[in-house]
Amino acid sequence: MLPVEDYLAEVLAIAHPIAPVMLGLEEAEGGVLAADATARCPLPSFDNSSMDGYAVQVAAATAAAPVILPVASQIPAGDTSPHTLHPGTCARIMTGAPLPDGADAVVPVEWTDGGRERVAISQPAQPGHAIRRRGDDVAEGQLMVPSGVLLGPAQIALLAAGGHGEAMVRPRPQVAVIATGNELTEPGSPLVPGRIWDSNSYLLAAAVRQAGGVAQRHRVKDDPDAVVAALDELSASADLLVTSGGISMGGEHDVVKAALTGHAEVAFRKVAMQPGLPQGFGVVGRSRTPLFTLPGNPVSAFVSFQLFVRPAMAARQGRAPAPPPLSPGVLTASVSSPAHRRSYLRGVLDPAAGTVTPLSGQSSHQLGTLAQANALIVVPEQVTSMEAGETADVMSLP
Ligand code: AMP
Ligand code: MG
Repeated sequence: MLPVEDYLAEVLAIAHPIAPVMLGLEEAEGGVLAADATARCPLPSFDNSSMDGYAVQVAAATAAAPVILPVASQIPAGDTSPHTLHPGTCARIMTGAPLPDGADAVVPVEWTDGGRERVAISQPAQPGHAIRRRGDDVAEGQLMVPSGVLLGPAQIALLAAGGHGEAMVRPRPQVAVIATGNELTEPGSPLVPGRIWDSNSYLLAAAVRQAGGVAQRHRVKDDPDAVVAALDELSASADLLVTSGGISMGGEHDVVKAALTGHAEVAFRKVAMQPGLPQGFGVVGRSRTPLFTLPGNPVSAFVSFQLFVRPAMAARQGRAPAPPPLSPGVLTASVSSPAHRRSYLRGVLDPAAGTVTPLSGQSSHQLGTLAQANALIVVPEQVTSMEAGETADVMSLP
């Protein structure tokens, strides 16, 4: 049996970053920037008002209150005509409108009577008041978003504000999910006794999306040729392939194993964990697309996804695959675990109390408890039981 870390290291050694592409900003969102983005112009690109009010020369606004000034012009946001403030006058100005030449403060409308032809100003403004200076956000040539950063709403907005219509990114990975099993039926359609509704393809596709990928769901029968054909076809377009089922230890119906037997670049492994002992990983197809063959039991597939597939998705985007963070939790009940295997037990973490409650029903088919859990309790390989009151490592679920 291979320790979890060793298996993850094997996986990451061949999950190479995908090639960067130039994408429009909307498509680039969720991608990882592959080249530094610098500011082509300062932000803001011109001095402008941060409030609705009156652009003034401070000398006028600081005279004994109230000061009454003629309103010489109106400057709405988007106004591109040149404006110059003549001494003894002011300009009505809106938020985001360019500051007229000669003005050195904006008096907020709240400090005035709001007059249109003449305005009475009742409070003095300091020089620079309510003015956003050219370049006070980002200077020209400044690094805005460095290469390697995942583009979320804030980074996308900064690129847009800086005039970038597109970005060079490693996009959200395209992950094809393939559930295998003759017993599988589409949820929502009638069930013949002996069959089950397919949950893994939905589980894995949802987990892919939660991890920032784009998922495609597929299902194939327990026919090795059909599995080979699906992998061949999908490996051409997907960045990552994930199968579920058909890899248990020695069943003659293990379709994924049968399909890949003799495949030089896919290895089946026993990993020292529970659930999720049987695992398989390799590359398939002409584009050498990384493939995970996950176990069929839903909870095994879920835990395997979080431990191995999620980091591989990050690696394909050129991101450092951070291991799921662990925090301490005081057990409210005892737990047991097989010798020589690391257990991942479903539990409910109460962060305020610092406690974690193991759920009863820990078999790997029991999705009911997975849906209640917000965390996995990690029991080390050499430990076979832990008592209430002991502190365990707890992995919060995304
Ligand atoms: P297998 O490894 O294919 O023998 O599957 C192990 C267990 O997981 C069996 O009980 C299967 O019925 C179940 N299983 C496999 N695939 C799925 C799926 N897509 N949805 C729900 N259960 C599944
Ligand atoms: Mg099966």
